[in-house]
Amino acid sequence: MSSIDSSLQPSLERTQELREALSGIRQRVAIAAASSRQPTLVAVSKYKPASDILACFEQSHLDFGENYVQELVDKASLLPREIRWHFIGTLQSNKAKTLASIPNLHCIQTLTSTKAASALNKALPTERASPLHVLLQVNTSGEDNKSGLPPLGPDTDIASTELSQLATFIVKECPKLRLEGLMTIGSLEQSLNASKSEKNLDFEKLRETSQHLADYLTKEHGDGQWGHEATGKLLLSMGMSSDFEAALKSGSDIVRVGTGVTYPGWQPYNTPTGQTSIERPYSTYDPIMSATASTMACNDNGQASAAQLSASVPAGSQITAKWSQWTHAEGPVTVYMAKCNGSCTSSNSNSLKWFKISETGLKSGTVGAGKWGLGDVMATLSYTATIPASLAAGEYLIRHELLALHQANTPQWYPECAQLTVTGGGGKTPSGSYLVSFPGAYSASDPSININIYADPAKSQTTYKVPGPAVWNGQ
Ligand SMILES: *Cc1c(COP(=O)(O)O)cnc(C)c1O
Repeated sequence: MSSIDSSLQPSLERTQELREALSGIRQRVAIAAASSRQPTLVAVSKYKPASDILACFEQSHLDFGENYVQELVDKASLLPREIRWHFIGTLQSNKAKTLASIPNLHCIQTLTSTKAASALNKALPTERASPLHVLLQVNTSGEDNKSGLPPLGPDTDIASTELSQLATFIVKECPKLRLEGLMTIGSLEQSLNASKSEKNLDFEKLRETSQHLADYLTKEHGDGQWGHEATGKLLLSMGMSSDFEAALKSGSDIVRVGTGVTYPGWQPYNTPTGQTSIERPYSTYDPIMSATASTMACNDNGQASAAQLSASVPAGSQITAKWSQWTHAEGPVTVYMAKCNGSCTSSNSNSLKWFKISETGLKSGTVGAGKWGLGDVMATLSYTATIPASLAAGEYLIRHELLALHQANTPQWYPECAQLTVTGGGGKTPSGSYLVSFPGAYSASDPSININIYADPAKSQTTYKVPGPAVWNGQ
């Protein structure tokens, strides 16, 4: 790897971590795929440094997926030419030229328009050794926030659909493109239901769509000019971290696996009807101003939503909470969990016992002018905590609390909760003084709560005790 800048070399520790993660995913893919098939595992590397990709490449991994054109261009210029890049982000036809200039761009999985197809076909250099593979993205779940063309059903007049017209356009008019198959994302709801052993209807829909499209293409154009070069079949790209095993059972040929699953949050200003989220409902962005408010647990009456979901996570995993906006830099961030009595969906958060798994209070400087956990949240709009690896498996609530201290003696709490099903783990749960109730854990007279960060003492105070119990150490 002499052509690679040494700064691209990952640390030994990171290499080890990635090697384990990659081999774990490869094993799960091999187990879930029927023995006769060898699906392609695309490692989704968006937001990851080039050194991570290099570490996986050195484990003989060649297929990587990226969502952003400039990020892909930058990484491709640094990394080995043997890599097969898959573009899986939203494709704008004005970016086609930039993408086409990447010599080892292997596949575009998100094609949805003849305009983009035509721009790619025009921009691809004639010296490319093989056509660029393209997959057409299908919006199987019909959600507004997902791109893709509508799927085909038994009653569809196929010749009149955008999907068949785009496929025909590529086969007939784009010699530098090879129509290799179809791609879908599918809904989170289907993904979570399917993990409870029902069929994922979005994946079934993509498979059905591909059969209709293949029949149509055979009839219109014969075989040979489309599909996988070796088998002539249309390939299916479906399945991500949360659902690739279900996708492989539905016949997926390409799975796209990143490092995690993103779950949309509760939308307090939309109607609760029909909202599906792992987050517990809450109704306002306004802060809670009393240390003993009845809403202190989860900023609501303590109940689950009508269509409450839970995320399944192994003990020891990292959970990153994300905020779309945050404006106060002074105060602590705290993460609690509570074991539900059996089902979380039927548990009231006000009756649970909570324990702390993470906190970030005053990080440096003084109470009056230092750096706080909330400053990090403001800068990154996120906070990452680790579920203790020793925690017993079971259903839990997780509670992220921002405590804003920017108004003298006027603490402002912003708690939010989500439901988790923890798997694996070491069978341990905290007890005794680690456990608190909400309301109950906080008192208005606590000097960390009734605090004036602009008063004279705060100008020299360099310690701050985050309210609530000690962080449980997992023992
Ligand atoms: C990010 C992304 C993935 C990977 O998602 P994970 O949940 O991290 O596995 C797969 N497909 C597409 C289209 C993506 O944008």
